[in-house]
Amino acid sequence: MLPMNRRSLLLTLGAAGVAATAPRAYAQTAAPAGPFKFDPLPYPNNKNEPHIDAMTMELHHDKHHAAYVNNLNNALAQHGEVAKKPLQEILAKLSAVPEAIRTTVRNNGGGHANHSMFWQVMGGAGGDPTGGVKAAIDRDLGGFNKLKDDFNAAGGKIFGSGWVFVTVAKDGKLTLVSKPNQDTPLMDGHHVLFGNDVWEHAYYLKYQNRRPDYLKAWWNVVNWDKVGERYAAARAGKLTI
Ligand code: MN
Repeated sequence: MLPMNRRSLLLTLGAAGVAATAPRAYAQTAAPAGPFKFDPLPYPNNKNEPHIDAMTMELHHDKHHAAYVNNLNNALAQHGEVAKKPLQEILAKLSAVPEAIRTTVRNNGGGHANHSMFWQVMGGAGGDPTGGVKAAIDRDLGGFNKLKDDFNAAGGKIFGSGWVFVTVAKDGKLTLVSKPNQDTPLMDGHHVLFGNDVWEHAYYLKYQNRRPDYLKAWWNVVNWDKVGERYAAARAGKLTI
């Protein structure tokens, strides 16, 4: 017994040593076991500087998002029939999730979906939307300037934690929606084109109580090419989360 234990201990220490000295351009958190995968950030932690600081990105992705994925996988460990469905299907029909894990799945499955979308639509250079997305914003949301005003106002009004989203229907119609906690329009069977996280963990290190400044600055890191890809996928019926 003793040699085996000693060997496991050494292996554990060895792995920790490697993790501590590895270069850190991208998130290094190991993917948790379970049916849902925790992807690394698609860009370095400092990609959204100076608007969103690298430390906030690191903690937000490596700690907060990781915890949602871990909690979701833990909750589903004994519920293989739920775990084998795509996340958007689980969230669209929470009433079908066993009651014992429903709230956990709602909060952590919602958190996983929201943050997976969030990293994707950031890391860009901001500026103005283009193409089909611009046309849809002009048609449905009164133009980009009005959208920003309405979106920022909706984000400012959320009491406590939540999200502001623009949803996209299969016919391309856009709608502004806000949700509390980690709820997502996926829970209403709608798809998210893009959205912003107004939980304090998303901005507090840099902006403290100044949520309106964060909301305004966030537009500078939107990746409109990615939003355009999501728009095209929604039109094709292929947008997942
Ligand atoms: Mn968050």
